Amino acid sequence: MNGKTLRPDLLDVHVWNKNGDHPRDKSVWINPEPSDRQRKPFLSEGHVVRIYNVPGPEGIKKCTKCGNKMNGIHGWIDNAAAPSVCPSDYIVTDKDGGMSVWSKDKIHELYK
Ligand SMILES: [Zn+2]
Repeated sequence: MNGKTLRPDLLDVHVWNKNGDHPRDKSVWINPEPSDRQRKPFLSEGHVVRIYNVPGPEGIKKCTKCGNKMNGIHGWIDNAAAPSVCPSDYIVTDKDGGMSVWSKDKIHELYK
C-alpha cells in the first residue's frame, strides 16, 4: 500500500482496474487458432478477480457506484460479501484468506 503499514489483520491490498490486475490472477494471453480469424488474442479470466459477465439486463445495466456498464468493465470475486468489483476498487485479503472489495475512499480514509 504505497509504503504504508498494513493493518495487522490484513495480508495484502491491491488496486484493481481491469482483468488480470491482481497479482494472483495468473491471467495469460490466449491466441485463437489461426483458422479463427474472427477472434483476436485475449487475456484469460483472472483466478482471483473474475470477469463480470452476467447475461440479460443485469449485465448491460450501468453500475450504481461508478456509472460504467457492468459486463466487461467490472470484476467479480467468488465468496465475497459484496462480490462485484468496480475499476479503481481495492481487493483486500485478510490473514485468514478471506477477500473483500473496498472502495478507493475507504482505503484512503484508513491510510491517509
Ligand atoms: Zn462500478
